[in-house]
Amino acid sequence: MKILVTVKRVVDFNIKIRVKTDRSGVETANVKMSMNPFDEVAVEQAVRLKEAGQASEVVAVSLGVAHCQDTIRTALAMGADRGILVQTDGAVEPLAVAKTLKALVDTEQPRLVILGKQAIDDDACQTGPMLAALLGWPQGTFVSKVTLTNGIVEVTREVDGGHERLELRLPCVLTTDLRLNEPRYASLPNIMKAKRKPIDMMTPESLGVAVEPRLLTLKVEEPVRRQAGVKVGSVAELVDKLRNEAKVIR
Ligand code: AMP
Repeated sequence: MKILVTVKRVVDFNIKIRVKTDRSGVETANVKMSMNPFDEVAVEQAVRLKEAGQASEVVAVSLGVAHCQDTIRTALAMGADRGILVQTDGAVEPLAVAKTLKALVDTEQPRLVILGKQAIDDDACQTGPMLAALLGWPQGTFVSKVTLTNGIVEVTREVDGGHERLELRLPCVLTTDLRLNEPRYASLPNIMKAKRKPIDMMTPESLGVAVEPRLLTLKVEEPVRRQAGVKVGSVAELVDKLRNEAKVIR
């Protein structure tokens, strides 16, 4: 069974985001970029299935600028077998990513596609469900546990107020919650080995997919700065401030 796993290059989660001065978006020049954290979990899951003898090949896919090869190399160092970069310089929205992945699924014929539940840059949470809809495949989103037996994938989903368990028939699409696993660090020997693993280069055009944006960003703004708190000396002072300054009690 072949697994396709998606890896998006995003601003590293430790970096404090800065908005561009013209408010057209977030600053990405000279900023540390890394694999989207949910995608690390997706790669880990795919590699674990391969190590358990339940998958034959893990293919890591990214869409974006040439530097996304670095993100694919990280997936290869974690244990993926080969990579595919669909290179495009402009912004790609979830629908365009889903259509591109659909085209790749048609040629690669994986039985399982694992994506992150959300990309931490656009926070869209759309690509996995859109891909499942385009393919007409069952989907398990926000999964925190996966077991695969005789072509049936049993997943536990993180839902409001608890856990939901679903059985899905292969082929299917999964999106990962952070609790699914703890991604491994790539060891130095594996980083070296990953340099020799192949990455196929493609373009959306070569796959017959139009990726032009359909959304127009009007303005990106930083959240309003929170005011510093104050320490109060007594309960009476607290009540006074709540009543007369914050005006949240009468
Ligand atoms: P989103 O729908 O944008 O929140 O993204 C959900 C997931 O789709 C991400 O965690 C990735 O696994 C995948 N994805 C989205 N955009 C890309 C991209 N440009 N390249 C690779 N994977 C992507």
